[in-house]
Amino acid sequence: MTRLRPIVLALLLVAGAIGQQTVAPSERLRAFDRVTADSIRGHLSFLSSDLLEGRNTPSRGLDIAAEYIAGQFRRYGLEAPYEGTYFQESPIRNRRTGELTGTAKNVIGVIRGSDPALRDTCVLITAHYDHLGVNPNLEGDQIFNGANDNASGTTGVIELAAAFATMDPKPKRSIVFIAFQGEERGLLGSRHYAENPLFPIEKTVAMINLEQIGRTDDSEGPRIGAASMTGFDFSDVGPIFAEAAKAVGARIEMHPQHSASYFARSDNVALAMLGVPAHTICTAFHFAEYHAPGDHWEKIDAVNMRLIVRAIGAGVLAIADSEREPRWNENNPRAARYLEAWRERRKDLVPLAR
Ligand SMILES: [Zn+2]
Repeated sequence: MTRLRPIVLALLLVAGAIGQQTVAPSERLRAFDRVTADSIRGHLSFLSSDLLEGRNTPSRGLDIAAEYIAGQFRRYGLEAPYEGTYFQESPIRNRRTGELTGTAKNVIGVIRGSDPALRDTCVLITAHYDHLGVNPNLEGDQIFNGANDNASGTTGVIELAAAFATMDPKPKRSIVFIAFQGEERGLLGSRHYAENPLFPIEKTVAMINLEQIGRTDDSEGPRIGAASMTGFDFSDVGPIFAEAAKAVGARIEMHPQHSASYFARSDNVALAMLGVPAHTICTAFHFAEYHAPGDHWEKIDAVNMRLIVRAIGAGVLAIADSEREPRWNENNPRAARYLEAWRERRKDLVPLAR
């Protein structure tokens, strides 16, 4: 027995070292190499094609887009949380009359986390996939294709789902991928999700919403190699993403004028109101064909978009692999209402041992 002991000890040490072996962060980022400009153009050109008639909410074009996104989630083996489907469907009503006009679907897929404790928590990667439909009163082009707004963000969600699906081991926390309906009609899809979340809100540690991440011809001047996060200094999420983006050679930063003013202008705010650190990332806030029929996919800089998608992936990975949750910034009065909502949600929870 005594003679064997050193050997047993050595074996245990080796087994322990293998068990604890972690893949270096830079190695993990290779999962995002599979994102290519051609793959981006493939998704973009379909989602913003005339066939989909501007993806109004509700419409047949929107439903075709939903089927397409679900097909991609299926292709990459994402978990289908709604009785084996990816569809969270809800009725759509006329805003003035309250009359039922149809139904629309949020498209939702899940990649389960690898850590036994942290997998019960999640990070949301989201984008709205609807747009403004068709205006038959216009001369010439009547279809609002919404390529940058927001087939680009939707494509980003699909590309990130594909990349995270191939990552081994998977991130510690679960990741929920959502394409929202009805953003242009008043954040309908994100509000519906906030009321009917897949993971409990208090287990949802962050939300990253993608909007207008394709065009680099910002009205303020070319925007290359960089993206902005709304409410950048409202929570830790901004600084975490800024740091993570450096690893892929991109910048995620705070826009001096629009950071705070645009915070409540996209789907992230529906979750922020419930206390989830939730932000939107965009490349350009303003571009020439914003909410106009000329928002076509050919005008998107797919090479730059590839870089931005990889930077977003690196940021999500940093949060999904960390035991520490992002927090609202207690020193920023503009974040106070969201911090208050966060505290309200957590007050009955026993804090995780750190
Ligand atoms: Zn939009």
